[in-house]
Amino acid sequence: MLNATLFYIGCCFGSFLNQVALKNVLTINFQRSTCDSCSKQLTWYDLIPLFSYILYRRKCRYCNFPIAYSYLIAELICGALFILIFCIQQLQSIIIITTLILAYLYSLMDYYHLEINPTLFYLPNILLLVTVVSINGITETLHISFTFLLFIVLFSITKLLPNSLGGADIKIILSWSIFFEPSIILITLILSSGIGLCYSLLMTKTNTSPFIPFLTLGLLLALLLNK
Ligand SMILES: [Zn+2]
Repeated sequence: MLNATLFYIGCCFGSFLNQVALKNVLTINFQRSTCDSCSKQLTWYDLIPLFSYILYRRKCRYCNFPIAYSYLIAELICGALFILIFCIQQLQSIIIITTLILAYLYSLMDYYHLEINPTLFYLPNILLLVTVVSINGITETLHISFTFLLFIVLFSITKLLPNSLGGADIKIILSWSIFFEPSIILITLILSSGIGLCYSLLMTKTNTSPFIPFLTLGLLLALLLNK
């Protein structure tokens, strides 16, 4: 029952994050969503995560326009993510919960736009940093010197291999390195590079593909392994 509740709360979050990622801006909009095709304003029962999608058979109730699978997938993955976050023992940690939810949002943005909205990156991360510093102080929890070292390494990599890492990828890795143990960051980088490499070999894609989803998966796995 707990898992089902967690899963559904995750789906609701996924639905919200998917909308934010699609628009790629942080707008607090109190008006209800509209249909992408007929622009008709949707009622609350058109917007129940998961259920509305299944009930109306993946179509807009008014114009029968098919709703993209990505909406459902974004909700389902976030539901699964919430269960996994609960599996990681340090659930009490505001850092893990916030970082993973933000990482998921950035993965969706990277998938849709191949970029991250700067406001949606800096604002929540600075808020998280201020919160953590005000609770724990600077010395004990933060790994500033490791972040600095990592910055030099990643910066050198982009100079040597210009098409390897994007600016958003580096910003996200560095923001994680402040909060997590260096070992977790190193495992994350190894896992995400490995998974990304396998994906690009399997898909034989030559154009730019989003890397933040792989980084997020790498971090999730590293945290689960470290449990
Ligand atoms: Zn419609």
